[in-house]
Amino acid sequence: MKFRFILELFNSFNFVLAPPTCILCGKIIENNPIGSNHICSHCWENLPQPKNSKDILERFDQHFGAENNPFSFAFSLFDSEKNHQFLEIIHYFKYSKFTQIGKFTGKLLGEKIKDEIEKKQIKVDYIVPVPIHLVRKRERTFNQSEIIGQAISKVTAIPLETKLLKRVVYTESQTQLGFEERISNVSKAFAITRDKAFVENKNFIIVDDVLTTGSTLYYCGKILKENGAQKLMLAVLTTA
Ligand SMILES: [Zn+2]
Repeated sequence: MKFRFILELFNSFNFVLAPPTCILCGKIIENNPIGSNHICSHCWENLPQPKNSKDILERFDQHFGAENNPFSFAFSLFDSEKNHQFLEIIHYFKYSKFTQIGKFTGKLLGEKIKDEIEKKQIKVDYIVPVPIHLVRKRERTFNQSEIIGQAISKVTAIPLETKLLKRVVYTESQTQLGFEERISNVSKAFAITRDKAFVENKNFIIVDDVLTTGSTLYYCGKILKENGAQKLMLAVLTTA
Protein backbone atom coordinates (compact mmCIF):
# COMPACT_ATOMS: atom_id res chain seq x y z
CA MET A 1 0.00 0.00 0.00
CA LYS A 2 2.77 2.37 1.03
CA PHE A 3 4.88 1.37 -1.93
CA ARG A 4 2.00 1.99 -4.29
CA PHE A 5 1.51 5.45 -2.85
CA ILE A 6 5.17 6.31 -3.35
CA LEU A 7 5.02 4.97 -6.90
CA GLU A 8 1.97 7.10 -7.67
CA LEU A 9 3.64 10.13 -6.17
CA PHE A 10 6.71 9.52 -8.28
CA ASN A 11 4.61 9.13 -11.40
CA SER A 12 2.76 12.35 -10.80
CA PHE A 13 6.04 14.24 -10.30
CA ASN A 14 7.44 12.63 -13.38
CA PHE A 15 4.38 13.72 -15.31
CA VAL A 16 4.87 17.30 -14.21
CA LEU A 17 8.60 17.32 -14.91
CA ALA A 18 8.60 15.47 -18.23
CA PRO A 19 8.17 17.91 -21.11
CA PRO A 20 5.15 17.22 -23.33
CA THR A 21 5.88 15.27 -26.50
CA CYS A 22 4.00 15.27 -29.79
CA ILE A 23 1.75 12.22 -30.20
CA LEU A 24 2.44 12.17 -33.96
CA CYS A 25 6.21 12.69 -34.27
CA GLY A 26 7.41 12.13 -30.69
CA LYS A 27 9.36 15.39 -30.54
CA ILE A 28 9.34 17.53 -27.42
CA ILE A 29 6.86 20.38 -27.62
CA GLU A 30 8.32 23.72 -26.59
CA ASN A 31 6.46 27.01 -26.63
CA ASN A 32 3.84 25.69 -28.96
CA PRO A 33 2.30 28.67 -30.76
CA ILE A 34 -0.87 26.70 -31.54
CA GLY A 35 -1.36 25.99 -27.84
CA SER A 36 -1.54 22.19 -27.75
CA ASN A 37 0.40 19.98 -25.34
CA HIS A 38 -0.11 16.95 -27.57
CA ILE A 39 0.48 17.99 -31.17
CA CYS A 40 3.51 20.05 -32.22
CA SER A 41 3.05 23.02 -34.51
CA HIS A 42 4.98 21.31 -37.32
CA CYS A 43 2.66 18.29 -37.33
CA TRP A 44 -0.37 20.50 -36.96
CA GLU A 45 0.58 22.58 -39.99
CA ASN A 46 1.14 19.41 -42.00
CA LEU A 47 -2.21 17.80 -41.29
CA PRO A 48 -4.02 16.94 -44.54
CA GLN A 49 -6.44 19.66 -45.58
CA PRO A 50 -10.07 19.01 -44.75
CA LYS A 51 -12.43 17.86 -47.48
CA ASN A 52 -14.85 20.51 -48.59
CA SER A 53 -18.46 20.38 -47.50
CA LYS A 54 -19.76 19.23 -50.88
CA ASP A 55 -17.42 16.21 -50.98
CA ILE A 56 -18.33 15.20 -47.45
CA LEU A 57 -22.06 15.47 -48.12
CA GLU A 58 -21.70 13.32 -51.25
CA ARG A 59 -21.07 10.33 -48.99
CA PHE A 60 -24.60 10.63 -47.69
CA ASP A 61 -25.92 10.93 -51.23
CA GLN A 62 -24.09 7.75 -52.19
CA HIS A 63 -25.15 5.67 -49.20
CA PHE A 64 -28.64 6.90 -48.57
CA GLY A 65 -29.72 8.73 -51.75
CA ALA A 66 -29.41 12.46 -52.43
CA GLU A 67 -33.11 13.05 -51.78
CA ASN A 68 -32.69 11.63 -48.25
CA ASN A 69 -29.61 13.63 -47.28
CA PRO A 70 -30.60 15.53 -44.14
CA PHE A 71 -27.52 17.79 -44.14
CA SER A 72 -26.93 21.05 -45.93
CA PHE A 73 -23.38 21.76 -44.78
CA ALA A 74 -20.40 19.90 -43.29
CA PHE A 75 -17.50 21.27 -41.24
CA SER A 76 -14.28 19.39 -40.50
CA LEU A 77 -10.72 20.15 -39.43
CA PHE A 78 -8.59 17.66 -41.34
CA ASP A 79 -8.87 14.59 -43.55
CA SER A 80 -7.52 11.14 -42.62
CA GLU A 81 -8.92 9.06 -45.45
CA LYS A 82 -5.62 8.40 -47.22
CA ASN A 83 -3.46 8.93 -44.15
CA HIS A 84 -4.84 6.83 -41.35
CA GLN A 85 -1.91 7.71 -39.08
CA PHE A 86 -3.65 11.00 -38.34
CA LEU A 87 -6.46 9.06 -36.69
CA GLU A 88 -3.98 8.70 -33.83
CA ILE A 89 -5.18 12.13 -32.74
CA ILE A 90 -8.67 10.72 -32.27
CA HIS A 91 -7.40 7.54 -30.59
CA TYR A 92 -5.40 9.47 -28.02
CA PHE A 93 -8.38 11.65 -27.33
CA LYS A 94 -10.93 8.87 -27.10
CA TYR A 95 -9.15 5.86 -25.68
CA SER A 96 -6.23 7.36 -23.80
CA LYS A 97 -8.51 10.03 -22.38
CA PHE A 98 -6.39 12.95 -23.53
CA THR A 99 -9.41 15.22 -23.32
CA GLN A 100 -7.26 18.31 -23.88
CA ILE A 101 -6.99 17.20 -27.53
CA GLY A 102 -10.77 17.34 -27.84
CA LYS A 103 -10.97 20.76 -26.22
CA PHE A 104 -8.19 22.16 -28.37
CA THR A 105 -9.40 20.74 -31.71
CA GLY A 106 -13.02 21.52 -30.81
CA LYS A 107 -12.05 25.15 -30.26
CA LEU A 108 -10.43 25.32 -33.71
CA LEU A 109 -13.46 23.68 -35.28
CA GLY A 110 -15.64 26.19 -33.44
CA GLU A 111 -13.68 29.11 -34.90
CA LYS A 112 -14.19 27.70 -38.38
CA ILE A 113 -17.92 27.30 -37.79
CA LYS A 114 -18.20 30.81 -36.37
CA ASP A 115 -16.56 32.34 -39.46
CA GLU A 116 -18.72 30.37 -41.85
CA ILE A 117 -22.09 30.97 -40.21
CA GLU A 118 -21.33 34.67 -39.79
CA LYS A 119 -20.36 34.91 -43.44
CA LYS A 120 -23.48 33.04 -44.58
CA GLN A 121 -25.66 34.64 -41.90
CA ILE A 122 -27.05 31.31 -40.73
CA LYS A 123 -28.74 31.20 -37.37
CA VAL A 124 -27.97 28.00 -35.47
CA ASP A 125 -30.18 27.17 -32.50
CA TYR A 126 -28.33 24.24 -30.93
CA ILE A 127 -25.13 22.23 -31.03
CA VAL A 128 -26.06 18.55 -30.61
CA PRO A 129 -23.33 15.99 -29.89
CA VAL A 130 -23.90 12.42 -31.09
CA PRO A 131 -24.79 10.53 -27.91
CA ILE A 132 -22.93 7.41 -26.82
CA HIS A 133 -24.43 4.46 -25.06
CA LEU A 134 -24.59 4.86 -21.28
CA VAL A 135 -22.53 1.73 -20.71
CA ARG A 136 -19.82 3.07 -22.98
CA LYS A 137 -19.92 6.43 -21.25
CA ARG A 138 -19.35 4.66 -17.95
CA GLU A 139 -16.35 2.81 -19.41
CA ARG A 140 -14.85 5.84 -21.09
CA THR A 141 -16.03 8.34 -18.44
CA PHE A 142 -16.87 10.91 -21.10
CA ASN A 143 -18.56 11.33 -24.45
CA GLN A 144 -15.96 12.53 -26.94
CA SER A 145 -18.56 14.31 -29.11
CA GLU A 146 -19.79 16.21 -26.08
CA ILE A 147 -16.30 17.54 -25.34
CA ILE A 148 -15.94 18.76 -28.93
CA GLY A 149 -19.47 20.21 -28.78
CA GLN A 150 -18.71 22.08 -25.55
CA ALA A 151 -15.65 23.69 -27.14
CA ILE A 152 -17.66 24.68 -30.24
CA SER A 153 -20.42 26.08 -28.06
CA LYS A 154 -17.93 28.16 -26.09
CA VAL A 155 -16.47 29.76 -29.22
CA THR A 156 -19.72 30.30 -31.12
CA ALA A 157 -22.01 31.04 -28.14
CA ILE A 158 -24.54 28.58 -29.62
CA PRO A 159 -26.14 26.59 -26.77
CA LEU A 160 -25.07 22.95 -26.34
CA GLU A 161 -27.97 20.49 -26.20
CA THR A 162 -26.92 17.11 -24.84
CA LYS A 163 -30.31 15.69 -23.82
CA LEU A 164 -32.21 15.92 -27.09
CA LEU A 165 -30.81 12.75 -28.65
CA LYS A 166 -30.47 9.53 -26.76
CA ARG A 167 -28.79 6.31 -27.77
CA VAL A 168 -31.37 3.65 -27.09
CA VAL A 169 -30.27 0.56 -25.17
CA TYR A 170 -29.23 -2.34 -27.33
CA THR A 171 -30.96 -5.60 -26.53
CA GLU A 172 -29.00 -8.79 -25.88
CA SER A 173 -30.18 -10.42 -29.09
CA GLN A 174 -28.62 -7.72 -31.26
CA THR A 175 -25.12 -8.87 -30.38
CA GLN A 176 -25.94 -12.10 -32.25
CA LEU A 177 -26.61 -10.21 -35.47
CA GLY A 178 -24.23 -10.04 -38.42
CA PHE A 179 -22.36 -6.95 -39.51
CA GLU A 180 -24.89 -5.82 -42.13
CA GLU A 181 -27.81 -6.25 -39.78
CA ARG A 182 -26.02 -4.37 -37.05
CA ILE A 183 -25.39 -1.48 -39.42
CA SER A 184 -29.05 -1.43 -40.30
CA ASN A 185 -29.79 -1.37 -36.60
CA VAL A 186 -28.08 1.99 -36.25
CA SER A 187 -31.33 3.16 -37.78
CA LYS A 188 -33.04 2.27 -34.51
CA ALA A 189 -30.22 3.35 -32.24
CA PHE A 190 -31.41 6.87 -31.57
CA ALA A 191 -34.45 8.35 -29.94
CA ILE A 192 -35.60 11.86 -29.25
CA THR A 193 -36.27 12.87 -25.65
CA ARG A 194 -38.01 16.20 -26.09
CA ASP A 195 -41.31 17.01 -27.73
CA LYS A 196 -41.59 17.97 -31.35
CA ALA A 197 -42.05 21.66 -30.54
CA PHE A 198 -38.46 21.78 -29.29
CA VAL A 199 -37.15 20.61 -32.66
CA GLU A 200 -39.59 22.17 -35.12
CA ASN A 201 -38.21 24.87 -37.40
CA LYS A 202 -34.89 24.93 -35.57
CA ASN A 203 -31.40 24.75 -37.05
CA PHE A 204 -28.89 22.31 -35.58
CA ILE A 205 -25.24 21.37 -35.90
CA ILE A 206 -24.70 17.69 -35.06
CA VAL A 207 -21.19 16.94 -33.77
CA ASP A 208 -19.13 13.75 -33.92
CA ASP A 209 -15.42 12.94 -33.75
CA VAL A 210 -14.95 11.02 -37.02
CA LEU A 211 -17.06 10.60 -40.13
CA THR A 212 -16.58 7.31 -41.97
CA THR A 213 -19.66 5.82 -43.63
CA GLY A 214 -21.77 8.54 -42.08
CA SER A 215 -24.47 6.16 -40.85
CA THR A 216 -24.40 7.42 -37.26
CA LEU A 217 -24.71 11.06 -38.28
CA TYR A 218 -27.27 10.14 -40.91
CA TYR A 219 -29.64 8.52 -38.44
CA CYS A 220 -29.20 11.33 -35.92
CA GLY A 221 -30.03 13.80 -38.68
CA LYS A 222 -32.93 11.75 -39.95
CA ILE A 223 -34.71 11.65 -36.60
CA LEU A 224 -34.35 15.41 -36.18
CA LYS A 225 -35.70 15.97 -39.70
CA GLU A 226 -38.63 13.68 -38.99
CA ASN A 227 -39.41 15.83 -36.00
CA GLY A 228 -39.49 19.00 -38.02
CA ALA A 229 -35.93 20.34 -37.86
CA GLN A 230 -35.32 22.96 -40.51
CA LYS A 231 -31.62 23.12 -41.32
CA LEU A 232 -29.05 20.52 -40.30
CA MET A 233 -25.32 20.84 -40.49
CA LEU A 234 -22.64 18.48 -39.24
CA ALA A 235 -19.25 19.06 -37.67
CA VAL A 236 -16.52 16.44 -37.26
CA LEU A 237 -12.86 16.65 -36.40
CA THR A 238 -11.88 14.41 -39.27
CA THR A 239 -13.13 12.35 -42.18
CA ALA A 240 -11.75 8.83 -42.63
ZN1 LIG B 1 4.83 16.54 -34.12
